[in-house]
Amino acid sequence: MDTLNATPPNQALRLFNGQDVSNWTTRDGRPAGWKVEDGVLHVVPGTGDIMTTQRFTDFYLHLEFRCPDMPEARGQGKGNSGVFLQGRYEIQVLDSYGINIPGKGDCGAIYNQFAPLVNACKPPLEWQTYDVIFRAPRVSDAQQIEAGARLTLLFNGCVIHNNIELPGVTGAAIDERVGEPGPLLLQDHSNLVAYRNIWAVELPLEGSPTYEPR
Ligand code: MG
Repeated sequence: MDTLNATPPNQALRLFNGQDVSNWTTRDGRPAGWKVEDGVLHVVPGTGDIMTTQRFTDFYLHLEFRCPDMPEARGQGKGNSGVFLQGRYEIQVLDSYGINIPGKGDCGAIYNQFAPLVNACKPPLEWQTYDVIFRAPRVSDAQQIEAGARLTLLFNGCVIHNNIELPGVTGAAIDERVGEPGPLLLQDHSNLVAYRNIWAVELPLEGSPTYEPR
């Protein structure tokens, strides 16, 4: 199932308006420093990570990204960025094209927690898709974590995480207040990664407990 250029459903929140970064800030709330050209959002190295002003709990997320061609670069220096769900859980963005068995730092990994089931990475300079179904942690009134964050991830239409439960936040999370809504955060890792077509559909936290026959 290819979701490249997917049309956002009516109820979707367009997180990137294709024109500017007015609904994004830096981690400390200053105006975002990334640039927009021809409807594409570009990392400006050194300006820092950017995050949405909106906050989310459970959601479906679609986005598209493109890694630069860096033939001399290796490992974590090759087209590195990242998509942080709620600002706390990083889905790695990296040029991992051609790697046989992807690891916990490769493209699509939950950084340092889960390697992708398969390597679905396209070559650099090609647009690629992430479609995420995210369920936030459930935290009791006494601040006990009753269920960890769960996610399913399709990378270029391939299922690479199947309803996994995360043990906690990944490195460089905005905070550890996992019971609170959080933003979508994109990482500046000094490489010229680009993004487009970013939207989310908020999901209800649970369905109705009743059944009313019609
Ligand atoms: Mg990264």
